[in-house]
Amino acid sequence: MTKFLLITDLDNTLVGDRPALEQLNQTLMQVRQAQGLLLVYSTGRSLTSFNQLRSQEPMLVPDALVTSVGTEIYYGGSTTPDPDWSEKLNQGWQREDVLSITAHFNDLVLQPEAEQSPYKVSFFLEPSLATDLLPRLDVALHIRGLDVKLVYSGGKDLDILPLHGDKGQAMQYLRGQFGVTAEQTVACGDSGNDQALFSTGQERGIIVGNACPELLQWHQENGSDYIYLATANCAGGILEGLRHFSYVK
Ligand SMILES: [Mg+2]
Repeated sequence: MTKFLLITDLDNTLVGDRPALEQLNQTLMQVRQAQGLLLVYSTGRSLTSFNQLRSQEPMLVPDALVTSVGTEIYYGGSTTPDPDWSEKLNQGWQREDVLSITAHFNDLVLQPEAEQSPYKVSFFLEPSLATDLLPRLDVALHIRGLDVKLVYSGGKDLDILPLHGDKGQAMQYLRGQFGVTAEQTVACGDSGNDQALFSTGQERGIIVGNACPELLQWHQENGSDYIYLATANCAGGILEGLRHFSYVK
C-alpha cells in the first residue's frame, strides 16, 4: 500500500451520512499513519461557508482546501489563498464584463454576496430553463472575448469561472505542488461541478451512489475503467471506491 492523494467534494459526497463519515474517518486516520495520505477537500463553498460546515460535521483536518469551485486553494489552515494559483486565474479574467453581460439574462438570479468570490460569479438557474439559456449565454460571453467556463451543478447552481479555474485544474495543480502522480490520485464527487475532477486524465474517480442525474448522465457517456460508480451513498461510497481501487483494505 502506497501513499495516495484523496481529493473529495464535501456536500453530498464526504458529508451527508454521519455514521458512514465516521467510519471513513477511522479508515483514513489508519491510512495516514500506516502508508501516508494527502487529504484535500474540494468544494463549491466559500472559505466562510466551509468553516460553518466544519463546525457541524466531524471532518478530518485536510492538507489542502480548494474552495469556490476550484478558484481558491488554501494550505494547512491558512486563510490566504495560494497567490500563484490566483495569478494563473487572473489572466484574462474580467469579472465586471461577465456581470454586465449576464445582466441581460433575466432568468439568472444572482446568488448572495457570501457565495460570490473574486474568480467566480454565481447564479441560481432553474433546470427547466438551463438547456435553452446556457448555450445562448456561452455565445454572448465568447462574442465579447471572455474566455470563461460555465459550470451548472445540482440542477440549480450556475458558476461562471475563469477558463482554467475548475475543480479538475485545481486538482492537477495540487498534484504538481505535492509531487503526486495521476495513479496515486483519487477524486470523489456527486454533482456537475465535480465532473471536471473526472475528466482530467488517469486520476482515479469515485462517483458516489447518490450522485445527481447530470453527473450520472455524463458518466454514461464518458465513463472509463478509471471511474468507479459506487452503490453506497456519500462517505460509504468513497470507502467502497477506495477498496475497489485497492487504496485501502
Ligand atoms: Mg456535492
